[in-house]
Amino acid sequence: MLVQLLWKPLPVSWPEAVPQRPTGLRGLVAWAREVAVGVSQDEDVERRVRRGAMQAIVREAFQQTVAEQDSEHRGPAAFAEAWKTRLAAVLAQETVEVTGWGQLTIAELDTGLGRSLYDAASRARAETIARAVVMPGRRRGADDGPTVSHEFSIAADEDGSLGRVQYAVCEPCGVGLLKKISFSPEWHCCGFGTLALRELETRHPGLTWYTTGQYAHAQGFYQRYRHRSDSPWTANQHPCPHF
Ligand SMILES: [Zn+2]
Repeated sequence: MLVQLLWKPLPVSWPEAVPQRPTGLRGLVAWAREVAVGVSQDEDVERRVRRGAMQAIVREAFQQTVAEQDSEHRGPAAFAEAWKTRLAAVLAQETVEVTGWGQLTIAELDTGLGRSLYDAASRARAETIARAVVMPGRRRGADDGPTVSHEFSIAADEDGSLGRVQYAVCEPCGVGLLKKISFSPEWHCCGFGTLALRELETRHPGLTWYTTGQYAHAQGFYQRYRHRSDSPWTANQHPCPHF
């Protein structure tokens, strides 16, 4: 839904127009004529371009907020607020430079549509985060020796996969290796990392876990998690000879 709202062409009927009740006989006649004739094609094209431009502004504000996640680490609510503030600042300007659109004059655009789009997209993001669940895992190919590789994804039904976790276990040694957790940047700081690590521990209770350098970009998160977790996580890089 988030992708649909920010990246796909907006349906002509979005958001559902509030029907204007014509008043008086003259108003009714004018309304009936308008409905009968419909909007001319030129108006339609112009409207579509204006809506596309506003969508690009909301999208760019979103992407710029995502780009700050590496330094800001905003949780869902703080992210929504930062995105909203950024959008409001853009809409308060006279003109704005938007990737792929050049310079746009705000007064020529429908700022109300921008705010509606932000509201809907922001709600869609929050709903996706709330609905995200761990999907059934699968074994990946055959391993040499006693180690078994697995992977699972985290997804919110219709939106498809939000991220993926790859890991391996060595049952004889009682060791689990977290190989990789990958979420695209727009889903960082949404609690999915914690969800994924808890799932590892639930699926394979009693193992001692460790991870390799690939996870270095998330060291802060990983260290905090290790200290909260009931399962042992070791800093030892070679807890079992089979990996
Ligand atoms: Zn082993």
